[in-house]
Amino acid sequence: MPGKGLVQGLAVTLKTMTQRSTTQQYPDVEPELPPRSRGVIALSEENCTVCMLCARECPDWCIYIDSHKEEVVVPGAARSRQRNVLDRFDIDFSLCMYCGICIEVCPFDALHWTPEFEYAETDVLDLLHDKDRLGEWMRTVPPPPAHDVLGEPSKEEATAARKAAGPGAATAAKTARPPVRRPAAQAAAEPVEKAAPVEKAAPVEKDEPETGR
Ligand code: SF4
Ligand code: SF4
Repeated sequence: MPGKGLVQGLAVTLKTMTQRSTTQQYPDVEPELPPRSRGVIALSEENCTVCMLCARECPDWCIYIDSHKEEVVVPGAARSRQRNVLDRFDIDFSLCMYCGICIEVCPFDALHWTPEFEYAETDVLDLLHDKDRLGEWMRTVPPPPAHDVLGEPSKEEATAARKAAGPGAATAAKTARPPVRRPAAQAAAEPVEKAAPVEKAAPVEKDEPETGR
């Protein structure tokens, strides 16, 4: 039928005209991003031990680390100790593919995602962020999600509870979190630990009665 396409097109136009617009007027209106969005990587320099794991695991080889060793004299110790001092920690965001492997492998929580994304540059060389700039991003890292109330307490919490308990158990009871509640099916599936068998006491050898001969 001639004009059928025109009618269909107008119908679509009329339908969308009556719907509410979802366009966000960025940059006048800030987008509402999820808090765990992958915007940029932040570095907590004091947590970094220069273990080089992140640089080794990065598939793009876009993390550059330099360091030197420093002698630390510990009072009372027989020998001085050595520690790594971070000289350079750069991430080249023109190469980074935002896989997050560096953050996952860091054993000391020195790297974090932040939802900040407004760091576009007119010169690609400026996308190399040094440790000072990576450190500035730390203020935009969102707080970690709340603990699962039914989860097991972390090692740090357990240690703090033990220390707080001290000689009396009453303090420990106040600070300790409630025990983990498991579903009945899971509890039934878990093997029950058997009590260790009680060793029988060896028979006591009786002394021979003296005959007096
Ligand atoms: S997010 Fe991935 S590509 Fe980017 S620096 Fe980390 S490991 Fe490398
Ligand atoms: S893995 Fe973590 S601690 Fe190790 S060098 Fe990278 S940022 Fe530093």
